[in-house]
Amino acid sequence: MSNNWMMRRSVFLATYGCQMNERDSEEVLGMLIAQGYKIAEQPEEADVILLNTCSVRQHAEERAFGKMGELSALKQERPELVLGIIGCMAELQQEAIFKRLPRVDLVAGPAELYDLPYLLAEIQEKRQRNIGVQGSGFRVLGQTGQPTAKVMAVGRPFRPLDQRPVGDYRRPGVTAFVTIMEGCDKACAYCIVPKTRGQEISRPAEDILQEINALAGAGYRQVTLLGQNVNSYGKRFPDGGGYKGPLGRLRLLEEDPDTLLDFPQLLRLIDRRTAIPRLRFTTSHPFDATERLFRAMAECASVCESLHLPVQSGSDRILRAMRRGYTARAYLEKIESLRRLVPGIGLSTDIIVGFPGETEEDFQATVRLMQEIRYDNAYVFKYSPRPGTDAAAREDDVPQPVKEERNQRLLARQEAASQERHRALEGARVEILVEERGRFDGQWFGRTRANHGVIVASPEDLLGQTVQAQVTRGTAHTLFGELAARCNGSSR
Ligand code: SAM
Ligand code: SF4
Repeated sequence: MSNNWMMRRSVFLATYGCQMNERDSEEVLGMLIAQGYKIAEQPEEADVILLNTCSVRQHAEERAFGKMGELSALKQERPELVLGIIGCMAELQQEAIFKRLPRVDLVAGPAELYDLPYLLAEIQEKRQRNIGVQGSGFRVLGQTGQPTAKVMAVGRPFRPLDQRPVGDYRRPGVTAFVTIMEGCDKACAYCIVPKTRGQEISRPAEDILQEINALAGAGYRQVTLLGQNVNSYGKRFPDGGGYKGPLGRLRLLEEDPDTLLDFPQLLRLIDRRTAIPRLRFTTSHPFDATERLFRAMAECASVCESLHLPVQSGSDRILRAMRRGYTARAYLEKIESLRRLVPGIGLSTDIIVGFPGETEEDFQATVRLMQEIRYDNAYVFKYSPRPGTDAAAREDDVPQPVKEERNQRLLARQEAASQERHRALEGARVEILVEERGRFDGQWFGRTRANHGVIVASPEDLLGQTVQAQVTRGTAHTLFGELAARCNGSSR
């Protein structure tokens, strides 16, 4: 079995959840390709099937359980197939995965992703050993009647972000993700991330600069920096250094703002020392999004005029219960300062409806805040209790139909706001970076620096180019435009 398996192994990897997971999946594929694996486009063609999972909401977990349940059927015909659940759900559910999905061989958390090649090799070794024991008359069988070779790797505090995994793989394209930190030190009452992704740890700046320069050299035109709260970048590095020294952050920043490596400083470094035309970042926590950040955004030519700043609720009572660390007024003041310093900024947010104890009055406060800010985009989530979080200890007392109705009301308001914003752009000339082909032949999809999606028609190949588009029509979701001019491939 082993030789055959080693010679033709291929991996199918499906990703659930956020952009951080998408980047993690690329790293996993890079490592496996370096070990000789090929990428399988369909699960039916693969020797190893991995699902990189998300635990932020129960719905995301149920989808992954359902998908792996379906895929498990493939093992009936091909018992040598390896099935693995990796990422946040692996960290959270651990043994429960093997119980619910007895055909799964591997469970590996986010901090163990760099070990995947070894973990897969361990499964093969165990299988061979079991088959060896079978030959001597002793069989170790799992519930499915297959020799057991289960491997579980979870619970490390963080990923070694100062060591690049061997091998590099990027999905081909114009835009790329770069992870700048792992984990989260906040303790939002509803959120499972600190439990699944562990303590915050930042990646050394030199590595980040090197990676971005390599991406720019390979033709990528935009990089999005990733972290759960990029605004606290620099607090703790793998070697124990960081700005949260014994003197405390603010004092150090006041003493000599240039000696400290925090997030605004990182933006300035990337802007100065790399050739990437467009730079974005996500996610920002409002508590740590300061005027220092807004100034860096205003002064760095490559940093796009766009910010995702999750507010979660407009009610101070709910924000306190969520332990977000700001009031609605403080959030609004930040937005005012941001709009003053970065004119034309595109704003998006996350909102949770139906958090325990949310009354109609609390919900109305969120509606008012949305009305006042007029976001360009908003992601609205129905609260879902996550085991082990503080909020899960409270009664999930907003009935499902009420959550659903509040969700719909906010989405309808956002749709109206987006439509209004897009309509206001009709007739304007905007600069877009063309990121991909449109749905139909001769159509191209690009984004403005403020993150508005624009579809333009052109018989020429525009992929990766920065062009001027004349906006002809705006709907709630997209802008349509005509090609007006090229900008020599640069958006700076
Ligand atoms: N780190 C980011 C932040 O601080 O906003 C985002 C983290 S989370 C992966 C993405 C979004 O999922 C959150 O902004 C929140 O709106 C939503 N979310 C997190 N936990 C949730 C829960 N238990 N129920 C519903 N939505 C949740
Ligand atoms: Fe979760 Fe809050 Fe950390 Fe975001 S900042 S990942 S919502 S704990």
